[in-house]
Amino acid sequence: MDATRPGANGNPLLGVDIGGTKVAAGLVDSRGRILLARHRRMVARGTPQEGLEPVFASIGEVLDDPRAKRVHTIGVSVPGWVDPGRGIVLRAANIPCWRNFPLARKIRRRFQLPVRTGNDGNLAALAEATWGAGRGYASLLYVTVGTGVGTGIVIDGRLYSGRAGGAVEGGHLPINFRGPRCGCGKRGCAEAYFSGTAIARRARRLAATPAGRKSKLFDLAGGKIRAVTAETVARAAAEDDPLAARILDEAAGYFAIWLGGMIDLLEPGVIIIGGGMGRLMLSLRSRLRRGLEAWAANPRREEIPLVAARYGADSALVGAAALGLADNE
Ligand SMILES: [Zn+2]
Repeated sequence: MDATRPGANGNPLLGVDIGGTKVAAGLVDSRGRILLARHRRMVARGTPQEGLEPVFASIGEVLDDPRAKRVHTIGVSVPGWVDPGRGIVLRAANIPCWRNFPLARKIRRRFQLPVRTGNDGNLAALAEATWGAGRGYASLLYVTVGTGVGTGIVIDGRLYSGRAGGAVEGGHLPINFRGPRCGCGKRGCAEAYFSGTAIARRARRLAATPAGRKSKLFDLAGGKIRAVTAETVARAAAEDDPLAARILDEAAGYFAIWLGGMIDLLEPGVIIIGGGMGRLMLSLRSRLRRGLEAWAANPRREEIPLVAARYGADSALVGAAALGLADNE
């Protein structure tokens, strides 16, 4: 057995993933596998205290399990801006009930255990660095492309989160300063070009054209333009629909512009790509590589592997659990 492995002393780690609609708490073993998980519906739009109730309930249920006896830290993921040093939720778009909310302190008081917090994208990166596709690399860039675009950077085993936790919002780096307005208020953000939301928006626009009405996009959505989603595009592309293929090719081109900037800024050891749309982008690897020839100046850009993430929807929970490794010695 490798005694230097993280969590090798066998203590299970507790991770909590707070989302806009649900909360998941779980125990993770020393190989990054989820031993058990408990879910609650999140109450994101009530009072701050109402928001805490499902969090407390899910953590309490996990701690009741005999396997949780030796848990010594609670790691918590929040989908928004969180000050990781102080455990304060500054702002999370999907959890409006908490603003400048001392989440770590509340959880610590309730369970009498140390609490560590982080942002979901950053923690997903930590999960990959610790147990996933990033093991063995000194540095990594993690990007998940789903409804939005989340990012994380790990350097020498440590998350980079900036001065006060606000760094690595890579989805909000503009790739076109004249581009469409993003939810964050800026123009032309990456997220407005290759997220699932952006791909669906583009597909709806094209499906409404005379050519679009003859496409599989239109058929698969039952002739309802509003029913066209990013998944519709994926399915139509899998059935060789030229319009869907064009939409994905464009999105991959935008993704390559963004990745090129990331490579020139960071030159990471590996780039790990997660999320449903991310998987689709990876299937267009040669398109991405071609784009990088134009959009990364780094002469050794082809040496940087583009690999699929190990973790999916559970990445933030596992990454939150990994926060406890620092105390697991
Ligand atoms: Zn933005």
